[in-house]
Amino acid sequence: MLHFALAILFLVALALFFYSGLEHQHSIAVEGGIEVERHQLFFVKGPIKLPVGTYVYLHFIMSSLPHLVIDPTTNESPLRNPGNTLPTSLPVANETRTHPTATNTKENASIFFVGTATTILEWEGIRLMTDPNFLHAGDHVHLGPGVSGIRKTNPALNLEDLPRTDVVLLSHYHGDHFDQDVEAQLRRNLPIITTPHAKSHLAHKQDGEAFTDVYELDAWKSMMIDIKGVGDQDTKMVPAMKVTGMPGKHVDLKVVEVVNELIPPTNGWMVELGHQASGDDDTFKCGYRIYISGDTLMVDELKAIPEVYKGQQIDLMLIHLGGTTIPGPNMPLLMVTMDAAQGLQLVQLIQPDLTIPIHYDDYDVFLSPLSDFKKVVEEAGLSEKVVYLDRKDAYKFEVKN
Ligand SMILES: [Zn+2]
Ligand SMILES: [Zn+2]
Repeated sequence: MLHFALAILFLVALALFFYSGLEHQHSIAVEGGIEVERHQLFFVKGPIKLPVGTYVYLHFIMSSLPHLVIDPTTNESPLRNPGNTLPTSLPVANETRTHPTATNTKENASIFFVGTATTILEWEGIRLMTDPNFLHAGDHVHLGPGVSGIRKTNPALNLEDLPRTDVVLLSHYHGDHFDQDVEAQLRRNLPIITTPHAKSHLAHKQDGEAFTDVYELDAWKSMMIDIKGVGDQDTKMVPAMKVTGMPGKHVDLKVVEVVNELIPPTNGWMVELGHQASGDDDTFKCGYRIYISGDTLMVDELKAIPEVYKGQQIDLMLIHLGGTTIPGPNMPLLMVTMDAAQGLQLVQLIQPDLTIPIHYDDYDVFLSPLSDFKKVVEEAGLSEKVVYLDRKDAYKFEVKN
């Protein structure tokens, strides 16, 4: 009996001795898109350190952001009934502008101005088109119940002359941003990133007319656009875009919910062009940041943008101007996009490195001419910070590595 008790005591003492010498080490490392969590136990007494056991947990990194993967080697028309030959490129720009003051830049991306708020961004072999509007001078556009506008200008190219286009970024479901011809002719599976409101229209059309690859982003929600098959073999970094919905208010009234049914709600966008380790959004590094205002007025909600992006340069702002006033030029009652004065306030709020005005003279409901904006920009001493594009002009810039 005594021997048994002594044996127990010995075992307990040994266990206590052993336990008091145990040391736990914990590490987390990311290896090839997998998070490796490693727990190691050591027995340590004085100079002795003996490994006792290792537990490894593997976590596959699952991005919380939605992803759209674009393959630039596909060669599909953006139209559902394309012509016989697909144009291989955009038309040659009349004027190609670069940053007015920056030096030593290596331009590797460009924005082609089609008209209204339609621009085509080209980078790393892909094309992103904003707010497609290809109506011609004299065409009518529906802007709300009983409200329409007449186009005064022609787009820089016709819808059927579009080369391969990979994704559409649509700020809101309004006829001067997504017109009836565009709606009828775009390929149904062309990816579209837009507001929840626009998605509810585009993705739920009847009789085979629904768009099948529509992504909704509310304000401050983000998604990634991965570009397939290209990248730097040495650094293993691949180009990618991060698109984030920005706030916007087309109508500055308290009864917005009611008005929203008449005037569709709008987003702005932050489009960040950059690089990341394949599939790992946490490593995304922005090399050029573009803020697109959308059809917003200068409202308090926009003040959050410089707060959120504090310390991160906004390289370019595409600002929707025009001072759009409804129901029309003969009865200018309600302004629903920024005029020159509000546009200047937004430039001063966002302080982008450069601003390019768009959406400024294409419809008869755009009552604030671009010359007014030029004047207030000059008076504010900001002329070096603005580049003016006409339709069929392009702006080239550098996305840093
Ligand atoms: Zn609008
Ligand atoms: Zn508009």
